[in-house]
Amino acid sequence: METLKSVTPGELAELKTTISEAEKRTSGEIRVFIEDHSEDGPLDRAAYIFEKIGMKKTSLNNGVLIYVALKDRKFSIIGDSGIHAKVGSAFWDAIKEKMTGHFKEGRIFEGLKTAVRDSGEALATYFPYTSGDRDELSNDVIYGEPKV
Ligand code: CA
Ligand code: CA
Repeated sequence: METLKSVTPGELAELKTTISEAEKRTSGEIRVFIEDHSEDGPLDRAAYIFEKIGMKKTSLNNGVLIYVALKDRKFSIIGDSGIHAKVGSAFWDAIKEKMTGHFKEGRIFEGLKTAVRDSGEALATYFPYTSGDRDELSNDVIYGEPKV
């Protein structure tokens, strides 16, 4: 099996742009968190990080977190109660399936980009952009923050 390569600084910057583009169409907030390894399962870890980085504080509860542990080859995607109530589990499963396809081929960056875009689509449908919207959570990708 092909080894997963890390995500390059250029790719991180492009992911940020992809998030910014997606958020132009929605009030929702998308974040990407990448680290090498975690002892926890990807879903537990994502839920922990979600809270830790303040993603529960969006006014419409419409934050979406895409989480990846590169060396563990694990990822998950979770949304806050507002967006989850609209899209349900099937939506997350569909995104996960797409991501799995990319990741299996070692296309981490493409997988993440697709997940950001698809999350953006869903958010735009249920939480359209309104004038005066604030960027409640930074669009910077968080990579390898060991303290969280
Ligand atoms: Ca916003
Ligand atoms: Ca944002």
